[in-house]
Amino acid sequence: MNRKPFIAANWKMNLNRTEAQTLLRDLSNISVKDSESEIVICVPFPYLLLATEQFQGSQLQTGSQDCSSHAVGAYTGETSAAMIRSCNANYTLLGHSERRRYHGEKATELSAKIREAHAAQLKIIFCVGETLEEREQKLHFNCIHEQIGEVASALQELPIDSFVIAYEPVWAIGTGKTASPETAQEMHAYIRNVLKNSFSMAPQIRIIYGGSCTPENAAALFKQPDIDGALVGGASLNAASFKSIIHSY
Ligand code: PEP
Repeated sequence: MNRKPFIAANWKMNLNRTEAQTLLRDLSNISVKDSESEIVICVPFPYLLLATEQFQGSQLQTGSQDCSSHAVGAYTGETSAAMIRSCNANYTLLGHSERRRYHGEKATELSAKIREAHAAQLKIIFCVGETLEEREQKLHFNCIHEQIGEVASALQELPIDSFVIAYEPVWAIGTGKTASPETAQEMHAYIRNVLKNSFSMAPQIRIIYGGSCTPENAAALFKQPDIDGALVGGASLNAASFKSIIHSY
């Protein structure tokens, strides 16, 4: 199955405006010739317009790291999917483990966010992943099954090319402990099987890996048959490292 590789950066809550502008400029010369991948840079909200303006005419796309589960109104501090889209971003991350952990995001809210993003014509990078405790208790497959199953009906409303699944084992995020290519592949193949329950086009859905992905380990991960790219946190804050990961595909 021919799936276009997908590499995304997650800047999280890093970089001041000057640093962000420098990194955006350094990234923006990645050209189609350099990579056949779809490349999305998920920046903090205040930098969305800076990113989309810098990336005009380039191969890079802009994403946010979250969106509100509400469309509009008295929700102080929230940012709607329509606002994000109006800054010309075309992706949003949803369900990142840091949102689940620090903001208690659960299935009902995540399903509402998926629907809001879709209504605003934002595509979605939807994150799933088990904790270390869940893996140690051999509950990792159950956990992923549940995280996908509980939003499947919302995702079913989307065209198949409007979302990407990011498998991000929580124990590998920001820890320097990458899942081995075999461990990651095992879970990616499992996710693809779970997706078959809800999507006849499951073989076309891209599943990317996230968790301490670096220029050193990216190529081995990308060789696995069900790993279609990466969601990169720490290593995406350095243009040379991120470009090296892109070129590992
Ligand atoms: C992430 O937070 O999405 C992530 C993958 O982070 P890191 O690459 O730093 O582990």
